[in-house]
Amino acid sequence: MPETAPITVPGPISPPHRLLMGPGPVDAYPSVLSAMSARLVGQYDPFMTRSMVETQELYRHVWGTTAEASVLVDGTSRAGIEAAITSLVRPGERVLVPIFGRFGHLLAEIAERAMAEVHTIEVPWGQVVTPSAIEEAVVRVRPTLLALVQGDTSTTMLQPLDEIGDICERHGVLFYTDATASLGGNPFEFDAWGLDAATAGLQKCLGGPSGSSPTVLSDRAVAVVRSRARIEAGIREAGDPVAGDFVRSNYFDLGMILDYWGPRRLNHHTEATSMLYAARECARLIALEGRAAVIARHVRAGEAMLAGVRALGLTVFGDVAHKMSNVVAVKIPDGVPGDVARAAMLEDFGIEIGTSFGPLHGRVWRIGTMGYNARRDAVLATLAALEQVLARFGHPVRAGAAHEAAADHYRGSAVDGREATA
Ligand SMILES: *Cc1c(COP(=O)(O)O)cnc(C)c1O
Repeated sequence: MPETAPITVPGPISPPHRLLMGPGPVDAYPSVLSAMSARLVGQYDPFMTRSMVETQELYRHVWGTTAEASVLVDGTSRAGIEAAITSLVRPGERVLVPIFGRFGHLLAEIAERAMAEVHTIEVPWGQVVTPSAIEEAVVRVRPTLLALVQGDTSTTMLQPLDEIGDICERHGVLFYTDATASLGGNPFEFDAWGLDAATAGLQKCLGGPSGSSPTVLSDRAVAVVRSRARIEAGIREAGDPVAGDFVRSNYFDLGMILDYWGPRRLNHHTEATSMLYAARECARLIALEGRAAVIARHVRAGEAMLAGVRALGLTVFGDVAHKMSNVVAVKIPDGVPGDVARAAMLEDFGIEIGTSFGPLHGRVWRIGTMGYNARRDAVLATLAALEQVLARFGHPVRAGAAHEAAADHYRGSAVDGREATA
């Protein structure tokens, strides 16, 4: 054997204790971490198939749908986004993307890479798009697909989706949403809102690690995906090398992924078994606690955090009426060095909060209350630490005010006469 350079072998992985109160990723539920360390089974073991079927059903519940096509796309949230867009759109077809934050730009970029003709409308960061502006653009652009983010963590805004499905229906447009940041912590009704496709990730309100993208398609969207597959087969049979009229990606071909998850279990990729276990546990916890109860817990934590940061004298960014329940953006006060203060939160208290992107970088901090961390103790600990750090950098705070405001909110939001415990 050839000589290799000596290697210093690092110790086994041993992460520090952190409380992840940024815009995601957040701490996973303990039982999700346990699920990930469960024994592996083979790709076609009956247990694997059973676990996949259970996971499909659990996610139908999370999405609010009876649609058959509920699957996981292996990969982070953008794996689901790429699979949905590249499988629903043919090169040259028009895609409309209303943009109200960073992730709208991502949807537009992915649609462009899928060689769609991409049209965008934009509103300033901190606002959402009105249904009438969307309808006006739909009429003007006549897209095949409307791609719209539900919750954009870059701005914390929650785009209302409930009136958009009717608009798409009226104009024969497929309706896709990226619900990565919002699913589980804010209302989501796939069927009632007339959606054709939706994708998410685990690392926000679902309380898991990133690496699996729950994805759902309406029957209408499945028919479109299938028609793409037929075109591809036709091209292959005819030996016609015409490029461009079918899904180029193998990994993100939803037709193949549906066949893999379907009753025939046709081979595609090797299921990411530990991620399947994690995704199953995330959805199982939601079903166990109750979909509405989980959302209410996020609302409670988000409102308590909002009351707390306001009591610290911080100004909240954006249209608060349209804020997601699970994340708040606050303006960094004049004179406070944003990144140094964030580093102090991490080093002194082990608490991570986020900054933002693009026009908001260095101007706001984003504080999340998601999944496992949508809890009273996590909210109160974060506010207590923030108070100390702000005081140290000379921002005037009244000692105890934030704690009082947030704790008061929890006391006032008892549910059904019971004191809220989460
Ligand atoms: C956080 C987030 C993502 C993350 O995508 P990854 O591929 O998991 O990094 C995608 N979309 C939205 C709207 C998000 O908020």
